[in-house]
Amino acid sequence: MISFTGQTPENIAYAAELLRKAKRAVVLTGAGISTPSGIPDFRSEGSGLWSRDEPLEVASLNTFRIEPEKFFRWFRQLASQLFKAQPNPAHLALAELEKAGRLKTVITQNIDGLHQKAGSQLVIEMHGTLNSLTCSQCFHQADSSDYLKPFVEEGQIPFCPECGGLLKPDVILLGEQLPQDAWKAAQQASRDCDLMIVAGSSLEVLPVAGLPMQALDRGAHLVILNHSPTYLDVRADVVLYEDVAEILPAITEEVLHG
Ligand SMILES: [Zn+2]
Repeated sequence: MISFTGQTPENIAYAAELLRKAKRAVVLTGAGISTPSGIPDFRSEGSGLWSRDEPLEVASLNTFRIEPEKFFRWFRQLASQLFKAQPNPAHLALAELEKAGRLKTVITQNIDGLHQKAGSQLVIEMHGTLNSLTCSQCFHQADSSDYLKPFVEEGQIPFCPECGGLLKPDVILLGEQLPQDAWKAAQQASRDCDLMIVAGSSLEVLPVAGLPMQALDRGAHLVILNHSPTYLDVRADVVLYEDVAEILPAITEEVLHG
């Protein structure tokens, strides 16, 4: 059992109370919820895979189109980490809350599929998914299970079974639009919710970072669980600068068994 100090126990209790009272709670998760599962934050500059040996440009739609080998070389390292990753206690806590009817929707900026692996049912993936690939020529969509293993293990670049074109992982690269359906669903969920919990997101990547504002504008409560400050801390009911893999299970425990 982790023991928290300072204001943390009171804040946990208050966050739990807001969750218990909420009828339509929504969680917005970012890279911070998956770093305890060993996944680097691939979209933010200065951290994770970006800062190693490749410039930011490599994860862009442009690189995929112009230098696909370069793109896939970079992507192989990321895919191999995603392929092996397991959900951590923060993912499991959210799945438990959903199962208990305390949480309606998870909106995530992550592409790792760990919420689903943990058992969450209603997950809106803002930056796409590794579970499928789409042909860049004929738009044939393929399940990634046939391609992921040979790609990760042997570096086999995926080609379309229909036309031989390059298959692009359905993750949103830099320079790409967000998936329209996901964006609409996320906006709807944010406008309808009476409580939004931000977990492991520094709220730096627009337009997703604006979703909590849409919730606040309609009178929802806001809880922020992140290791560092965000631009909305001043408007939040509760802010906890803690490890989400510790704090979310603690809040969940309080909601379900407190
Ligand atoms: Zn094709």
